[in-house]
Amino acid sequence: MTAQLIDGKAVAASVQQKVKEEAALLKAKYNVVPGLATVLVGDNPASKAYVGSKQKMTQELGMYSVGAHLPADISQDELLKVIRGYGADPQVHGILIQLPLPAHLDQETVLSAVPLEKDVDGFHPINVGRLAMKNREPLFVPCTPSGCIVLIDSVGTKIEGARAVILGRSNIVGLPAAFLLLHRNATITICHSRTQNLPDVVRQADILVAAIGKAHFVKADWIKPGATVIDVGINAIPDATKKSGQRLVGDVDFENVKEVAGAITPVPGGVGPMTIAMLMQNTCTSAKRAVGLSK
Ligand code: NDP
Repeated sequence: MTAQLIDGKAVAASVQQKVKEEAALLKAKYNVVPGLATVLVGDNPASKAYVGSKQKMTQELGMYSVGAHLPADISQDELLKVIRGYGADPQVHGILIQLPLPAHLDQETVLSAVPLEKDVDGFHPINVGRLAMKNREPLFVPCTPSGCIVLIDSVGTKIEGARAVILGRSNIVGLPAAFLLLHRNATITICHSRTQNLPDVVRQADILVAAIGKAHFVKADWIKPGATVIDVGINAIPDATKKSGQRLVGDVDFENVKEVAGAITPVPGGVGPMTIAMLMQNTCTSAKRAVGLSK
């Protein structure tokens, strides 16, 4: 069996096209340009690259991009001032704090400073709390996990009643992915570093979301035939054929797993592009709310 490839680039492109059209409409009808403010603390190369791509995409979709690049040793008070400034700026509809933050900054305090209605990353504790509760609506949900759900839907996999196994319980990916699947009535199992008999647990999955950050960790004989496999992992492994000396792979042993799974995301080109697309969608939704067009 060769699994259907879930083309994250194509799905992301269609989300982005819709955002571009909505942004143009907002400008034409309401003279409002959806705006995203990025806040980057320090010089972590991966974080810089992520923020750069988010800013570039914001501009490509006809939206307003503004950003603060702050020194790694900035005090918490100074950082909170910057966030509050964007919070009060009517041109800014979404604020993205690039994580991780340097260790001297309290992540929860910093994320709580983002006004709820501009929390396009969905990491404000109130939005997270609402996501974790039944019959509560967060204003935004985190972008990577919501992108995973769009990808699962894109191949018509039925989520309701399915057994979904989530590898990883981070605040950014694993936990919110589990809540989103639970809200769609999947039966969920959340695995982590202390889970026993992991291959046996994974074998039960109709839907597998792998987000642990270990290259090629999930093997083909762990996969239920026909399962939908969403690989969130981004891991650099040595590759002498590349100029950089390395290449990116997922948490899943793609080459072998694709022979067993029903549908699978590649890395790169799977979940990665969806994260930015969902951020753009959230920013546009926020601008629509600002003019009373969206709930
Ligand atoms: P974290 O390091 O925050 O979390 C990793 C999780 O995996 C933890 O819950 C940990 O368990 C669990 N874990 C680690 N080792 C094992 C193991 N051997 N068996 C079972 N579970 C294990 O990572 P993130 O959630 O932030 O990211 C996960 C991956 O996804 C990374 O590769 C990251 O680069 C990628 N990523 C990709 C994004 C995208 O846009 N595509 C966005 C965000 C992340 P425990 O809690 O017990 O420590």
